[in-house]
Order: sequence, then C-alpha cells, then structure tokens
Amino acid sequence: MTVSEIRTELERLKTSPEGVALMYIAGEWTAASDGGTRDLIDPGTGETIGRVAEATTADALRAIAAARAAFDGGPWSQTHAHDRAKLLFRIADALEANADEFARIETLNAGKPLRETEADVADAANCFRYYAGLATKPHGESFDVPAPSQTFTVREPIGVCGQIVPWNYPLLMAAWKLAPALAAGNVCILKPSELTPLTALRLAQLFDEAGLPHGVLSVVTGAGPVAGAALAESHDVDKIAFTGGTSTGRTIMQAATGNLKKISLELGGKSPNIVFADADFETAVDYALLAIYAGCGQVCSAGSRLILDSAIDDRFIARLVERAQTIVVGNGFDRATEMGPLISAQHLEKVERYIALGRSEGAKLVCGGGRPAGAADRGYYLAPTIFTDTTPQMRIVREEIFGPVLVVQRFATEAEAIALANDTPYGLAGAVFTQDAARAHRVVRALRAGITWINTYHPTYNEAPWGGYKQSGIGRELGTYGFDEYTEVKQINVNLAIEPSGWFAG
Ligand code: NAD
Repeated sequence: MTVSEIRTELERLKTSPEGVALMYIAGEWTAASDGGTRDLIDPGTGETIGRVAEATTADALRAIAAARAAFDGGPWSQTHAHDRAKLLFRIADALEANADEFARIETLNAGKPLRETEADVADAANCFRYYAGLATKPHGESFDVPAPSQTFTVREPIGVCGQIVPWNYPLLMAAWKLAPALAAGNVCILKPSELTPLTALRLAQLFDEAGLPHGVLSVVTGAGPVAGAALAESHDVDKIAFTGGTSTGRTIMQAATGNLKKISLELGGKSPNIVFADADFETAVDYALLAIYAGCGQVCSAGSRLILDSAIDDRFIARLVERAQTIVVGNGFDRATEMGPLISAQHLEKVERYIALGRSEGAKLVCGGGRPAGAADRGYYLAPTIFTDTTPQMRIVREEIFGPVLVVQRFATEAEAIALANDTPYGLAGAVFTQDAARAHRVVRALRAGITWINTYHPTYNEAPWGGYKQSGIGRELGTYGFDEYTEVKQINVNLAIEPSGWFAG
C-alpha cells in the first residue's frame, strides 16, 4: 500500500478548506477559536500526515456549556434505555462496517501494526455492543426493611462526563469510556491525546450519523494542560474519567477537587510476570515476550518485570534473548511487522535515556538497546531490549519505561518472588506461570494488583473489571463495574401505610 493510498483514509474526516481536521463540539465541526492547529506525525516514518484543530480553553468551555445544556434540558438522560441501546448497537455495527478504515487511520496516527489496530477496532465494537446490552439489564436492588416501608434503589446518570484518554489505544480507550457513560444516560466530552485524535474524530462522525442528539458528545482535540485541564477544573463537569500517566492523574485529581467531581483514574504500572521453574518452558518464554513487546511495551499492563526462578534463569534468558532477536520490528502497514515504532521522537528519546540509565546503574544489557537491525532510517524504532543482573533499587526496575524494555529479577523462594512482585508503588497487573495449581492461586492472591493472569498474559475482556490497586488508579472500567462508575445510586423509600407518623403529639 502506498502512502497516498493510506492517506486517502483521512479524506473522510471533516476538515476545513485548508485541510485541518475539525473538532466536534455541540454537533458542529469546528476549528479552534484562535485558528490554532497541531501537526500530526506518522511514528512509522516521522512524516507529517496532517493537521488537527488545537482547542483553546474557550473551545473546551463551549463544549462543557453544550454538554451541560444537553444534560439538564435535553432528552438524552430521559431517553429510554432501549433507545440508548439501539444507538450503541448501531455504533458497534458502523465500526465493524468501517473496520479497515479505522484500523488504517489508527496505524497511520499511532504507528501500531495493523494486526493490533484491527484487533482494537474489533474490541471497541464489542465494547459498544456489551454496554448496549447492559443498558437494558436490571440495575437496582430492593431491601427488606421494617414494615410498612419498602426500599429500593435506582441507578441514574451522573451528568456531564469529561473523558481524557492516552495515545496507546486511542479508539479502544475512547470506547471503554463512551460506551458505559452513554449507556447509562450521561453526556460526554472526550479529550483524545493530542498525538492521536483521528479515530476519535471519525468515531464522532459515526455518532452524528447515527442520530445522537447534539451536545451529548463533543470531541475536543488539544493539549492536556489546556483542554484537559479545563475539563478537570470546570464546576459544570460532574465526573472526570482519565486514562494516562500517574503524575498526570495526580494533577487531574487535584484539579477536580473544586466541585468534588466523581473521579476514576486508570494509570501506569510496572507489572510483574513471575515464572517458576516448573512452568511449561516454551509457553512461559512465549508469554514473557508477549507481556512486554505487545504494543512495543507501550501498554499500561505490560509485564515489564520478569521475576524469574533462579533454578532456570540462564536457560530461560538464553531462549528469551534468542526469540526476542527474531521479532520483526517495522512499519505498522507491513504485514510482516510484529512490533511497531514508539509513538514519538520525544518518547523514543525518553526510553533511550532509560536504557543509558540501566547501563550506568550497572544492569547487564543482554538484548537490544538501540535501533533494530534493518529498521528504516526514519520512524521511532527500538529493538526489543532486556536487562539482567538488576537490583530492586534500580530506577529501571522501579519506574514505568513504557517501551520495549524488560528487566529481569531473580528469586529463590516463593516468598521472595511475591515480595519482589509487590515491591512497587504500582498495582495494575501481574501474572504467574507454574504447573502447580495451588501455588498459582496462592501467588496470584498474594499479588497487590487489580488484573492478574495464571499461565497467560494480557487477555482482557469487556465483561470483567479493569483497574489498579495502589498508585495504578481509582475505580474500575469494563464489566458491570465500569457501568456503575457512570451512575449515581438513588435510594427510594415508600410508605405502604399512608397515615400520620404520630411522632409529635399535637
Ligand atoms: P499522559 O498522562 O501524558 O496523557 C494522557 C492524557 O491526559 C492525554 O490526553 C493528555 O493530553 C492528557 N493530559 C496531560 N496533561 C493533562 C493535564 N494537566 N490535565 C488534563 N489532561 C492532561 O499519558 P500518555 O503519555 O498519553 O499515556 C501513557 C500513560 O498512560 C502511561 O503511563 C500508561 O501506563 C498509561 N495508561 C494506563 C492505562 C490503564 O488502563 N491503566 C491504559 C493506557 C495507558
């Protein structure tokens, strides 16, 4: 496929006469109030692929005002769940009907290999379908209270939701947030990453065509400290849902205190992948690679710390390195590519700084560490990288690198493996590989993490809750938990004997 063929995908986006991709605010396709734009870069080539409107604070405030009006006065929150479900089913169908186009836009904008973006589009469609189904399912409870009262609960939408997402899964993270929020009757302002706004804008077109009332969804494209901060600070926003880095999460939480808005945070991780000597050897090697190199390591739940039984460490590391060196790193549009580029020149530099740091800290670099052999001159490519001989105090062991860099830690006993695994401020994910079922369950229960796997790594299901312990987040996405995060619970008490209470004598 030629670059111009790929670029034709962008022609379906709404643009200004100058070719700038427009934002979607209150049902209108609009430029930034000051005419500002941002260049978008293809991480696979370093080339500029287009320009997008760069929102000002005023643009974000306009989206918030429209959302407020749509929630307070509009029909959406009063719409019957059947109608909300119908619309979300239409979005799932429309995503599938345009799956190739969405995958190619995402690959062009985020650099991810097509096989990853194709899976992301399918997952996003299924997410909309899951929450379309959940919209009409029972959500309240009834309680046995003393007669003559009867008490039950209903779930109601929270209101205006600001939703801020990162660049590593631009479409999927938008789906995880929009689907439950809209299913529950909320109105949404989505703020995609400034690096990867294109699939979110295309998704807004699908909503527009599907008949979503204007103002119920706005997509505001722009910088985090401008457009994102406006959402976090506004007293007209009732809930903020954020996925991104832990330090940004902290800033957003502080900004949200003004009106004590509801908050959910999906943050970073440094997740342990524990391999015992009795694990199926080739399976454990294979998943250790998948754990860290899927998504080029730019995955919040990446298994970035391999916690390895010292009884097998030399043989395991030798095989791991042998296989890591065969991973095909390249442009996401090349069907042979197994691992794509990093998101940006700036992020590549950050990961390279961590590799230099690992060396200076005294860890042993046994694989990668630089540009992969045969990689294109341009584009932000890095070879699969492995450090051994680490200590728990090293920064490469403690900090989230968010790139294809694996650090190996060794253990002698089960207790030591658990202690190493939990020795982190993060608590997003973790896995254990062993053929001893009792040990597998013991170790997984001892992990202080929200998402765990036994003899596998990475599978994620719309049906099951996603989120972190400790500094990896607050709240859960997906499943019924993800729906509940977008609802308020109202208690309703009914008096079944309508007569005076008799509390006051007179
Ligand atoms: P980031 O925190 O830099 O940015 C995330 C989003 O926040 C972007 O849209 C950005 O514009 C916005 N933002 C930045 N500063 C802001 C501010 N002051 N106020 C409001 N919004 C602001 O993260 P990133 O670099 O885009 O993504 C990588 C990070 O995301 C990693 O740390 C990764 O672990 C995390 N992540 C977590 C999950 C999860 O489910 N836990 C999933 C994907 C990514």
